[in-house]
Amino acid sequence: MRSRSHLLNGATAERYHQDVSLAAARIARKLATTDRPFSGANPQELAQVVDSVDLDTPLGDTAAALDELERVYLRDAVYFHHPRYLAHLNCPLVLPAVVGEAVIAAVNSSMDTWDQSGGATLMERRLVDWTAARIGLGTAADGVFTSGGTQSNMHAMLLAREETLRLAAKKARIPGDAPDSAAGRAELLPTLRVLTSEISHFSIEKSARVLGLAPDAVIPVPVDAATRRMRPDALAHELERCTRAGKTVMAVVATAGTTDFGSIDPLPRIADLCEQYDTWLHVDAAYGCGLLVSPTRRHLLAGIERADSVTVDYHKSFFQPVSASAIVVRDRTVLGHATHHADYLNPEWMAEKAIPNQVNKSLQTTRRFDALKLWMTLRIMGPDAVGELFDEVVDRAAQAWQLLQDDPRFDVAVRPELSTLVFRYRPAPGTAADLADSANLHAREMLAATGEAVIASTVVDGRHWLKFTLLNPLTSLEDISTTLDLVAQHAERHLAVPGSTVVAT
Ligand SMILES: *Cc1c(COP(=O)(O)O)cnc(C)c1O
Repeated sequence: MRSRSHLLNGATAERYHQDVSLAAARIARKLATTDRPFSGANPQELAQVVDSVDLDTPLGDTAAALDELERVYLRDAVYFHHPRYLAHLNCPLVLPAVVGEAVIAAVNSSMDTWDQSGGATLMERRLVDWTAARIGLGTAADGVFTSGGTQSNMHAMLLAREETLRLAAKKARIPGDAPDSAAGRAELLPTLRVLTSEISHFSIEKSARVLGLAPDAVIPVPVDAATRRMRPDALAHELERCTRAGKTVMAVVATAGTTDFGSIDPLPRIADLCEQYDTWLHVDAAYGCGLLVSPTRRHLLAGIERADSVTVDYHKSFFQPVSASAIVVRDRTVLGHATHHADYLNPEWMAEKAIPNQVNKSLQTTRRFDALKLWMTLRIMGPDAVGELFDEVVDRAAQAWQLLQDDPRFDVAVRPELSTLVFRYRPAPGTAADLADSANLHAREMLAATGEAVIASTVVDGRHWLKFTLLNPLTSLEDISTTLDLVAQHAERHLAVPGSTVVAT
């Protein structure tokens, strides 16, 4: 049967080698010749190309499919390795991780049980332990890899909810209607609250919904206007207010590296308050986790070792391919809140026989061996080299901040702690605020449309600002100043003929 020739196995090993080499050669050429982060293609143009492919008529041949892929995808993909990709928290990749990715795809372990993963389970455990040790969570720590910060945060919120209900039940000491009985849960769930800064990641709000908390369960805590860090006095105030109102704070979520500003909430002060109010502390270090390996800036995460749970996104500041993330907890027993035994997969007797599995800790079942990428990274280049790369982009952000600070054409929002810059083109005094907004958004659109650079935008105090997220050590100060010149030119042109472009907001 010809269809069998497409299966990857011993008989096709040589073709596997050839085909993957063909793809790798194609990408190598692409990387070597890509002169802009994006082609500027618009969705309508691309939809035509994508829609024209007849998915029921195969090309049958790898080289032909790669040729087609060039037109359908590679030509107009967004390239994060390019130094003028400055938009979101997407990093360029380190080679060892990409090699790991190739191995993951071909061996295809699944991280649920030992009989689907073998030693991969032990390797993931080593990397979770390594991460926990870097954080300083102590010897009872554990965790599990996830698909991303959103999932890690949701997992942490689930554990915080269950732990809060368990403790409430213990306190109530009335077995019949204890808070973790069905009736008790129904009564307590609507009173649960999560306190997090007003600029924390939206996945906290989403998690609260998924977890069946009240619509107003997530209480935004104000940040300091100058630093964009959570205000501990405001947190203390909210904790007190919740207690007085008979609400149970199931978690305080601190952010170590906010998505927009890279600001790091004051972890020691927040940890003190969590201790005082006996509340779960989750630290979302999806972005700031790169500091765990920084040779010069580890101190910025001081206090993170006091967290009950931590989110890390290796695919943001460890230069790993998507997906690679983990949730790490101080007390491994809490992971049991996500455990379910299925007769066919992970019966209790297996745990009794000490056959290790990761599915008992995970919200996923079938799961990629993403940890292998980090493994290869640590084994080939080592943690210091990763930290040095992250340090470089943090240094660059500080230099770029100075550049913006000295440039009368721009306002800059916050002095960066990590590697984001939020700024805006400042029009002549007297320019209408809406027009200033649309000039800035127009500049962003024009950069993308020409492919000169890809940058982001966000809203600060009700106005549109532009954003650079620096994660590429190859982004030079010259790349940044050239991009700023282009922003200014596009904005000025828009201000001269404001009606010329309608900008979607
Ligand atoms: C990116 C980000 C997340 C979400 O992570 P994903 O990997 O995109 O799901 C969560 N928190 C913060 C602070 C982030 O920057």
